[in-house]
Amino acid sequence: MKQYDYLIVGSGLFAAVFANEAKKHGKKCFVIEKRNHIGGNIYCENIEGITVHKYGAHIFHTSNCRVWEYVNELCEFNNFINSPVCNFRGEIYNLPFNMNTFSKMFSVTLPSEAKAVIDLQRAEITGEPQNLEEQAISLVGREIYEKLIKGYTEKQWGRDCKDLPAFIIKRLPVRYTYDNNYFNDKYQGIPVNGYNELIEKLFEGTEFRTNTDFFSNRDEFLSLAEKCVFTGQIDEFFDYKFGALSYRSLRFETEILDTENYQGVAVMNFSDLTVPYTRIIEHKHFDSNLITEKTVITKEYPEQWSQGLEPYYPVNDEQNNALYKKYEELANTKKNVIFGGRLGMYKYYDMDKCIEKALEICDKEF
Ligand code: FAD
Ligand code: UDP
Repeated sequence: MKQYDYLIVGSGLFAAVFANEAKKHGKKCFVIEKRNHIGGNIYCENIEGITVHKYGAHIFHTSNCRVWEYVNELCEFNNFINSPVCNFRGEIYNLPFNMNTFSKMFSVTLPSEAKAVIDLQRAEITGEPQNLEEQAISLVGREIYEKLIKGYTEKQWGRDCKDLPAFIIKRLPVRYTYDNNYFNDKYQGIPVNGYNELIEKLFEGTEFRTNTDFFSNRDEFLSLAEKCVFTGQIDEFFDYKFGALSYRSLRFETEILDTENYQGVAVMNFSDLTVPYTRIIEHKHFDSNLITEKTVITKEYPEQWSQGLEPYYPVNDEQNNALYKKYEELANTKKNVIFGGRLGMYKYYDMDKCIEKALEICDKEF
């Protein structure tokens, strides 16, 4: 008999949901986390009385009732609706692409007028779009592509839009209504007390150790438990035996400003290539009831990933997906290890999808 039923590597949302379900089923878990805190990328810090999303803005949105009820049982959510704006050389456009965007860009007022302009522009793409540029033009036409998509996307992914897969842009809604809600989902909000409360409740009663890298002593850690749940990088787990997967990284620069309201919105995107960051987050606007004298902003700079940097985004292009498939096949032969989460499954999961996936795995496991 080993000391624990599960060794969980990583303490992000996937790990936390797994630990919570395991606890409900009387299983004992031990969590190791290489950072100096639990929570992975949804971790928050309090600065000047403001909840700061340390690893980028996190807005919870889902259409899955089970997931929404699951998180609401643990913490209260506010009614925040994400309505970001995009700044192109000082011109402000509403996102996602909707009648407010079209009316400012094309001086039109009716959906039929906006459609007529866009249809004319998108006619240049015939047949199935082969890359992100073609997909974007076929969705919203060349003008919006060049002003609001091209620069942002090339900064974010570090590649020409012609060399990026079309699916990245399919996530963005295009609407012929005056509706600035960035998401199409049924439910949306942000935990009133920040995401740490959610994470702490999920891990309640579970032993964990921070500042501990699995790879510093993998055999000893593995020997502690019957099974392992691994939410780190799958390629690293297998010593990069088929080669390294690609990721995109980010650098966050956070500043406290001596003003009560800096940009008037939680998320402002910058789509001009000459601005080095992709967006500025003003954290206090995630909570419309918050009154503070100062404000905290974070600039997000995309970075080429290399070892030692945080691998925030998997690059799910054909080449990397094919490489991941090899690792996945190998992972399927390891019956005592469950690979989970954004890094373990090498998928661009939003929080709701991450919870959904974790619950699906737990349904099978327990
Ligand atoms: P992570 O949160 O990455 O957790 C993995 C953990 O494992 C990390 O803490 C890491 O340090 C640890 N770890 C890795 N390797 C080891 C090791 N060798 N030993 C020990 N520990 C290890 N989702 C939304 O729904 N809405 C949003 O608005 C949104 N915005 C986002 C913005 C950004 C900038 C990013 C990067 C993501 C965003 N997401 C958003 C996605 C969200 O962050 C993920 O769905 C979620 O955090 C995934 O959780 P996870 O457990 O899979 O991974
Ligand atoms: N995007 C864009 N301009 C914007 C916002 C998004 O071109 O102002 C594109 C970009 O390619 C990005 C994709 O849409 O990678 C998905 O954006 P989303 O906000 O869903 O993802 P995030 O950038 O927050 O990870």
